[in-house]
Amino acid sequence: MIIALIIFTAFALDDSSGTDWEMVSKIREEGFQRSQVMDIAGYMTDVLGARLTLSQDMARAQIWAKGKMEKIGLANTVIEPFMDYGVAWDNEYFSLHLLEPDYQPIVGFPLTHTPSTKGKVKCSVVIADVKTKKDLDQFRGKLKGVAVLATPPAVIDLERMARATLRRTPEELKQLEEDVIPKPRRRRGPATPPNPDLLKAEEIIEFFKTEGVRVVFECRSGRPGLVRGFARPGTKEDKWSREKSLASLPIIAVTPEHYNRMYRILKRDIPVLVEIEVRNRLGKNVEKACNVLGEIPGTDLREEIVMIGAHFDTWHASPNASDDTSGCAVVLEAARILKAVGAQPRRTVRVALWGGEEQGIYGSREYVLRHFGNPKDPKVGIKPDYEKFSVYFNQDYGAGAFRGIFLQGNEFVRREFAAWMKPLRDLGFTAISIQSVGSTDHVSFDAVGLPGFQFIQDRIPGTAGHTNLDFFDTLQADDLMKNAVIMAAFAYHAAMSDERLPRKTIDTEIK
Ligand SMILES: [Zn+2]
Repeated sequence: MIIALIIFTAFALDDSSGTDWEMVSKIREEGFQRSQVMDIAGYMTDVLGARLTLSQDMARAQIWAKGKMEKIGLANTVIEPFMDYGVAWDNEYFSLHLLEPDYQPIVGFPLTHTPSTKGKVKCSVVIADVKTKKDLDQFRGKLKGVAVLATPPAVIDLERMARATLRRTPEELKQLEEDVIPKPRRRRGPATPPNPDLLKAEEIIEFFKTEGVRVVFECRSGRPGLVRGFARPGTKEDKWSREKSLASLPIIAVTPEHYNRMYRILKRDIPVLVEIEVRNRLGKNVEKACNVLGEIPGTDLREEIVMIGAHFDTWHASPNASDDTSGCAVVLEAARILKAVGAQPRRTVRVALWGGEEQGIYGSREYVLRHFGNPKDPKVGIKPDYEKFSVYFNQDYGAGAFRGIFLQGNEFVRREFAAWMKPLRDLGFTAISIQSVGSTDHVSFDAVGLPGFQFIQDRIPGTAGHTNLDFFDTLQADDLMKNAVIMAAFAYHAAMSDERLPRKTIDTEIK
């Protein structure tokens, strides 16, 4: 009798958290038997390609995304500007060849917001690994008309690569769960004062420019075959300025093997000659960067908002299948599943594909400030929708399967998440960690005191966000199907619960 009573109480608790097993069954059936997630991810990676914020590629892709949302059946779709961002930049053509002492095509690509070369250029290569003011003297007068190798040779860490595993181990998940005391805020800024002699990257480029350097090569990748390259140094400070971009130098990120080969030949005092051509297109005017949004309107609580999202922008050298095309595909598929099963959420489920994440989480931050406000900043204040907001769920830690969720320091959502997780545990989605995580769009919500969450994900070895080799081929269909089902189920339950999700009372976010 007592046992029966306890069991009854346990079931009653479940029910009070409102886990709708029947709806989860429908979501699973749709998501596992009629999935479109790989079709969406495939179109985005193969046809749309890279989507640098404020590039022509991005503009095209955002029009597609709005259309896709409408096809899925979302309402109130919009390409919504969030800030005066800068000028558009697109790479239109790139070629790089080693001519001497031996012919070889070289793999690389230009950093964003760098200028073109003056047509096809042949030049010799010189090592100019400049770090401090003292380094400058030895290069003065010696760099006219050359290409420079501006970073030390790359080191490929095979040990580290060998340690990468496809799945988080049971021990790792257990450890995440058992770290029950939130870690303190991450310290901001360097612990030791910076060396005053150290030159800023933009000062080094400026020096090269004054000395008559034609092209700068760099290598910041430690993995075979991969090129990592971002933006011209100083872009965030000068707001992606056209003038600064034109006044800079072509800067080319090169794959480690090819970079190191040039470096080693030069160390033997044997001349290296390359041929290079870069054509980059710079916009004329400062333009607004945009997010893309759409909704499944709610019913009786339609004024209240549940959001799911991922960043739609990528770095420019590949479609960035893992970062964050996979997240966008999961979010669109989750919305499609909810529409396909005829879900009628009480709250409005809003789908967001953010812009400007890679440069500093701009799209979601500006959106949150404009729509919800910030109680900590009197200049912004609280907007009416602040109190109507329930929760935001994000995918952006690669393309790996969801294995759990980070509570972001919010103990008050543990019970709901544990209950909603129950019909999904067989997907390997089991861990709840109190820890806070950062570096993606949920922090925009968390930073203003709104519930925003990122899932615990597996890491797929070989996927390489922010590089030239992040394509469809390393996406795992099963993982993305599971993620879309989980995303749909969590959004649905959040939209159906009696109360909006509780907010935490202390600030534990990590930026
Ligand atoms: Zn990302």
